[in-house]
Amino acid sequence: MSNKRFTLALHGGAGPKRGHDYSVEIAHMRSLIEAGRDRLAAGARALDVAVETVVALEASGLYIAGKGASPNADGEYELDASLMDGATLKAGSVAALQGFESPILAARAVMERTPHVMLAGEGAMAFAREQGLKTIADPAAWFTHAGAFESNHPPDVLPTGTVGCVVRDAEGRLAAATSTAGVFGKLPGRVGDSPIIGAGAWADGHAAVSCTGQGEYFIRTAVAAQIAHRVRFGGESLEAAARAAIQGVADLGGHGGLIAVDRDGNVAMPFASSGLKRAALLPDGSIVAEAF
Ligand code: ASP
Repeated sequence: MSNKRFTLALHGGAGPKRGHDYSVEIAHMRSLIEAGRDRLAAGARALDVAVETVVALEASGLYIAGKGASPNADGEYELDASLMDGATLKAGSVAALQGFESPILAARAVMERTPHVMLAGEGAMAFAREQGLKTIADPAAWFTHAGAFESNHPPDVLPTGTVGCVVRDAEGRLAAATSTAGVFGKLPGRVGDSPIIGAGAWADGHAAVSCTGQGEYFIRTAVAAQIAHRVRFGGESLEAAARAAIQGVADLGGHGGLIAVDRDGNVAMPFASSGLKRAALLPDGSIVAEAF
């Protein structure tokens, strides 16, 4: 059943630190849901709203993505991002991208301006440069937390988290976008779930999903596509499908969370971790924004 009800949800990553004051992030997430709601009310497409929201999450420096990224074990910033348009099943992704302000814009350019889905490392950087995407001249000056990770342990006060957004627009189109610096202190070249279509992001005609958590487990259980397939082929509700998929991560010993919307405008945001920074527009028009 289709209807005109648009909705969106976003996350700022799994595993918030207990006792930390996330009021700035909560206010920020709420403001982005309001902005997305207004864009959708004016007829914006799901893919555009998902990308705009993730660009804003990246640029804020409040999460472990974009400007807020954490470095790998060599002190380099290698970022991953992906997006998928449920209306066309087109997808784009970048992995281990260095030197650009917005990995999600690079992923979008891969989708729209190449015959490929995914570009990694040097090739991704050469392509992003060719596309004229904004570069980072001085990483030490750009990244919010540059220097803060030198002890090789994320200080307690730092926020954690990948960012993502899922959208159902007024025409029933679905889209998902995810962006991350990956896990703290990862090996150089390590690629997590966030740029893997079907693992960290997925959108089709039935559901859109963006994940966060220990990426290796999300890849091994193909969480994002699994949820859409449970809904489509298994006839499960979005909530049941999302819970089952995150339970599969937990059963392997992993942790994390996700946000999902379906074609009827339902929203699910389960987690199996110490918490999740998340926000959504609810069916009654109210907004929930929380970190726990
Ligand atoms: N899922 C991300 C990764 O494994 C990390 C995160 O969500 O914080 O790269």
